[in-house]
Amino acid sequence: MTGQIGDDKIHEVRERTDIVALISGYVALKRSGANHMGLCPFHAEKSPSFSVNAARQFFHCFGCGVGGDAFSFLMKMEGLAFPDAVRRLAERAGVELEERSLSPEEERRQQERERLFRVNEIAAGYFHRMLMDDPHGEAGRRYLKGRGYGRKGAADYQIGFAPDGWEGLTRHLEREGVNLQDARLLGLIRPGKEGRGDYDLFRSRLMFPIFTLAGRVVAFGGRVLDDSKPKYINSPESPIYHKGQVLFGLYQARQAMRQAGEAILVEGYFDQLALNRSGIPHAVATCGTALTQEHAKLLKRYVQRVLLLFDQDAAGRKATFKAMETLQGEGLPTAVIDLAAGEDPDSFLLREGVTLFRQRLTQARSTMELFIEETLAEAGSSVEGKAGAAQTIAAKLALLPSEMEQDLYLKSLAAQTGIALELLQQQLSQARNRLRHPERKTAVPQPNRAVEPPEYPLPEPPEYPLPEPPPDDMAAVEDAALPLWGKAEGKSLSILLLVPEARETIRTLGVASLFQNPELQELAGRLLGLLEGAQVGEETARLAELPESLRRQLKPLLQVDRAAFADTFEQQLQDCRRAARRESLQRRKDELLRLMATASGDRKIELLQEFTQLKKQLNL
Ligand SMILES: [Zn+2]
Repeated sequence: MTGQIGDDKIHEVRERTDIVALISGYVALKRSGANHMGLCPFHAEKSPSFSVNAARQFFHCFGCGVGGDAFSFLMKMEGLAFPDAVRRLAERAGVELEERSLSPEEERRQQERERLFRVNEIAAGYFHRMLMDDPHGEAGRRYLKGRGYGRKGAADYQIGFAPDGWEGLTRHLEREGVNLQDARLLGLIRPGKEGRGDYDLFRSRLMFPIFTLAGRVVAFGGRVLDDSKPKYINSPESPIYHKGQVLFGLYQARQAMRQAGEAILVEGYFDQLALNRSGIPHAVATCGTALTQEHAKLLKRYVQRVLLLFDQDAAGRKATFKAMETLQGEGLPTAVIDLAAGEDPDSFLLREGVTLFRQRLTQARSTMELFIEETLAEAGSSVEGKAGAAQTIAAKLALLPSEMEQDLYLKSLAAQTGIALELLQQQLSQARNRLRHPERKTAVPQPNRAVEPPEYPLPEPPEYPLPEPPPDDMAAVEDAALPLWGKAEGKSLSILLLVPEARETIRTLGVASLFQNPELQELAGRLLGLLEGAQVGEETARLAELPESLRRQLKPLLQVDRAAFADTFEQQLQDCRRAARRESLQRRKDELLRLMATASGDRKIELLQEFTQLKKQLNL
């Protein structure tokens, strides 16, 4: 369902949800005074610092600082978007949501998706039965056993086997009354030549189902049992499967990833399985595709850092640096786990054992550090070589979200190359400008604003001033680190600054739901801290300890008429939350238009896919 949910409904769902009962489904809670306490599901801890307050319908962890209401708990826990969390809780509480009804075309698409999922589930059941019990699955069982996996491993992942023969699955699907056209669309079967019947695409292969976060099968990866080629066949893209948006093992690994705060990213199905079997459950695999921006966003919902463990060869190294760039784009730092050349996680664990593997985990090195080292080594010792390498490195450093980190790397680069720090700083600043203003280099199509009806109309005045974009000279570097906010976020900030009663509401909603980028979330958190207990009129004095440039930016927000928010701030914050989300999607869309103008090949296709997806979300 893609309908909109009214605020009264959201309110009703919140009212009728018992947060203690909800959280008890995930965490063992014990009553302690007015609160319930338990072990925090969002960080690893031995003694309980996670508290749930039934009266205020609020949770808070004194260990890691997370907190919020029932919606934010479910969003964090299950990686859901806000509307999905509302739907989930509405169902639980028995609240009818009366969403907008679907158009006939949407209805048709939804029914098709349902049918396709069902066909995949029938196929997955068939493959799994073959592997577990059928005489035709003997070869698959032997292979899996040879790699050290028993029935439990196979059951946990619902691994299956596609027997030798051309129509085992086709016949089975027919018996189950499946419309074969659906199975063709999913790439499970293909029509034979010259009017002959359909035949199975996967034959004599071990079958790995790929699950959505809701645990439904979207696709399969099929691996041969010997050395024949291709080693893997994967399901083609279909109305339910977009390979750039799905990670193998995420369904099984997500809780462990959240606990660990990090994920290990591997290339193969067996890499993921091997780690999981060895008690390292927070790994996911790209399914035979380069890591996309969508993947990075998905990972970001669960972790704060990604450890990269790709093939230990030149191609793997290239993929590692590419992944670093993609993940950095989402603000996720990365580190590299090094094994010996030719070794993969599976072989390493078998040969060296898990203790040594864990040691490698702790020795993971910053990917950027490795990139610098290898780029310099490749460049050799000539002056031109070093200068070229420094430029390449500056371009990568410009992608880092933290200026402090950029600075540290620059200093180390200066020391390693003998190039003056000032020169390197200049190069970095140029690289940053190129990133910010790519339109200066190339002509780009301008987004067509006329076709964008605002889905959530904002009340017009007061107008929210956007901070001035930083000018391009070096002196502006400090200002450049300041967060930019959109109209809705500016309004939320005003409310935060001006309305004492609203601050508690903002804490409950969570700064992450009102502000889209991490710097802005951090700023909002900081302001909440500074203004704790502040009365009307004390704001400016409380903000005195902020840097001058930031105070200058905040000033216009403090000059908005407080009365505009007086009794309706709650409603207005809800509106801002939705509008901010939309504005952020809009910004990303504009950015994509710019990126697409200069991209080519696979990258362009990825961007186009994201663009199409975004347009859908924006209802264009
Ligand atoms: Zn915690």
